[in-house]
Amino acid sequence: MSAKYVDIIIDISHEAIDRVFQYKVPETLSEHIQIGQKVEIPFGKGNSRRTGYIVGISDNPKWEDSKLKEIHGIITNEVPVEAELIRLAAWMRDVYGSTMYQALQTVMPVKKVIRPVEKKTILLAVDEQEGNLRLMEYRRNKNTAKVRLLEALLEHGAIPYSLAKDKLNISVSTFDRMTEEGTIRIESSKQDRNAMNVRVLQAKEPELNADQKALVEEFASDYGAQDYKTYLLHGVTGSGKTEVYMHAIDVVRREGRQAIVLIPEIALTFQTVMRFQRHFGDQITILNSRMSDGERYDQYKRIQNGEVSIVIGPRSALFAPCTDLGLIIIDEEHENSYKSDNLPKYHAREVAIERAGYSHASVILGSATPSLQSYYKAGQGEYRLWELTKRANDQVLPEVQIVDLREELQKGNRSHFSYALQELLYDRLQKGQQSMIFMNRRGYASFVSCRSCGTVVQCPHCQVSLTYHDHNTAVPKLVCHYCGYEEAFVKQCKQCGSKLIGRFGSGTQMVEAELRELYPQAKILRMDADTTKGKHGHEAILSAFADGQADILVGTQMIVKGHDFPNVTLVGILAADLSLHSQDYMAGERTFDLLTQAAGRAGRGALTGTVVIQTYDPDHPVIQTAAMQDYKSFYENEIAYRVALKYPPIYHMMVVLVTGTGEAETEHVIHDMVDACRKLLQTDTEQSVHLIGPTTPVIGKIKDLYRRVFYIRTKDMADMIKVKDRLETYTESNKQSDSIRVYYDLNPMNIY
Ligand code: ADP
Ligand code: ZN
Ligand code: ZN
Repeated sequence: MSAKYVDIIIDISHEAIDRVFQYKVPETLSEHIQIGQKVEIPFGKGNSRRTGYIVGISDNPKWEDSKLKEIHGIITNEVPVEAELIRLAAWMRDVYGSTMYQALQTVMPVKKVIRPVEKKTILLAVDEQEGNLRLMEYRRNKNTAKVRLLEALLEHGAIPYSLAKDKLNISVSTFDRMTEEGTIRIESSKQDRNAMNVRVLQAKEPELNADQKALVEEFASDYGAQDYKTYLLHGVTGSGKTEVYMHAIDVVRREGRQAIVLIPEIALTFQTVMRFQRHFGDQITILNSRMSDGERYDQYKRIQNGEVSIVIGPRSALFAPCTDLGLIIIDEEHENSYKSDNLPKYHAREVAIERAGYSHASVILGSATPSLQSYYKAGQGEYRLWELTKRANDQVLPEVQIVDLREELQKGNRSHFSYALQELLYDRLQKGQQSMIFMNRRGYASFVSCRSCGTVVQCPHCQVSLTYHDHNTAVPKLVCHYCGYEEAFVKQCKQCGSKLIGRFGSGTQMVEAELRELYPQAKILRMDADTTKGKHGHEAILSAFADGQADILVGTQMIVKGHDFPNVTLVGILAADLSLHSQDYMAGERTFDLLTQAAGRAGRGALTGTVVIQTYDPDHPVIQTAAMQDYKSFYENEIAYRVALKYPPIYHMMVVLVTGTGEAETEHVIHDMVDACRKLLQTDTEQSVHLIGPTTPVIGKIKDLYRRVFYIRTKDMADMIKVKDRLETYTESNKQSDSIRVYYDLNPMNIY
């Protein structure tokens, strides 16, 4: 298509992307126009020469043709990073479905200049010997926060202030007291910019073992030959993947290029951050979701100027304006947090590979339990598969026992804890070792129902049952986990007036209560959505547990990720099969991942660990393969099921979700869309595209909005994009009432 008109933005920032100006394209240029290009234009009253970027191309003018100005020309001698990001936004819009505005909002930084923040570093103010003496004293006084900070300082020499505050949970008053005592010293970056480097570089790093070295050498040789691949590093937890990442970054840095490292925020622990600091000094910048827009913008400028060469952060760090991007690493690539909840609902893995293609960069995906998607692609030869099968420090993997809960019931055991697990817990308490109890999901937290009429108390705004809570509240209350609605718990059924109303099912609270009854002497911590509401809520609980302030930690999946607890030798997984019975196609994959990660928590230190998996379905292949930590067998089983049922990764699947305030209207709109879709497919005889639905999703109403879905499945991504494009055009030209919204979700990772 030769372009006639283009939409142009002058300024590259979040705030300016809705100020779009349309220009005409002279015929001589119309064959060469592409989204993302930098162009020269006449601007304003005086027609001064400015540069802008093309964000849209069309055949039709929005104004009278004669009133539009013509662009002067395309700037071809440079490809600025902005152009790359705009091109990426256009790709995301095409693949995932959204407006160009939404896509640009996703990739563009919020421009907010702040005074440069003063960077502070904490240093040890005494020598090592004195430090160790004071450490013993702190331990005697059970001053756990001081112990935590001093231990870290003795290990690392110097620590960034913000990291100690956020990740080690050290309060300002603790810093003050330790400064007064003369144990620590706080320096600002202005006084001594290199304080960090000098001390830290002396710390020793492990030598790569033969397996790691082989991978890094292969990477270096591909890279040297300008063969920019995508690698999938499948390595068991503790196999030394992080070391491989750091050495691969060294290769890229030697050519003066930059790297982006994505790590799920919850896995970006103090230890991990310090390892990167130690290796790269002030060459790295770490982004997190707690940063203000101004701080983030400040970091973005440093990246763009080339002041730093490595960006570490969660999903959105993918859009860091690296001017010479040579490598993108995605650690824990199977994690759900890499999928965006907002339109466009992009997956960081796919966008990373696309971006890497623009700038001749390599991609390394790493995981102990790769997504089926990635492992399948590796099998197809699309990615290069790398495997690390042994733990780097020769720790043995934990021993796993499966307990059949049906047999427990036959023995008359009605508690959450099998006899085997009860005994092991007792044993660990005797030995002073720690245990973790993991509940599969909060989804089965207690709901309230009436024993007379069977009514389950539901949220008035969502089609879900309310959850009973009595923690930290004066009176028990009922809460909706989807919209936050709350009401006081009343011990009388609203339907039939019976007083036989109560809670059923079980949640982390009930498990904790039962543990307290079984082991009155044990110190127990609980971690779930209720106990981690505060800003640093879950860091605080985890560091208290790491400090040995409790014998048992009870929690939901939050306790499973990241974090090393060397003193944990027992992990109990209650009702392991529960998440297998949710209705979405990824249930098996998610359960395998959770079980493997949970098992990986046991025996991280010098002591070997035991894992107990309690289940009603002990022969289920997912339970069996997870117990043996056998990813390949799990994969073979799971992929066979996906093939049989035409699910991703064999087929691409798009969910089209329509929401609206009126149930009838929502229903009507989705039927219209499916009909329109069927017609399109008939005329085009696209036999390969399957439509399923429309149907009501598992939760038919959230926050007073009714929800309806249908599914599109096809093997061919190009067909998928074609169908989605036409649906977008169809909905635009058949405008419904204002309350109707349409969402697209390609290869969804959660239930609809
Ligand atoms: P992963 O990222 O695969 O979980 P890590 O890179 O975090 O593994 O390594 C796990 C532990 O093993 C870390 O404490 C790390 O310092 C150590 N380690 C990694 N590689 C080596 C090695 N070659 N020799 C000794 N220890 C190593
Ligand atoms: Zn009732
Ligand atoms: Zn609700």
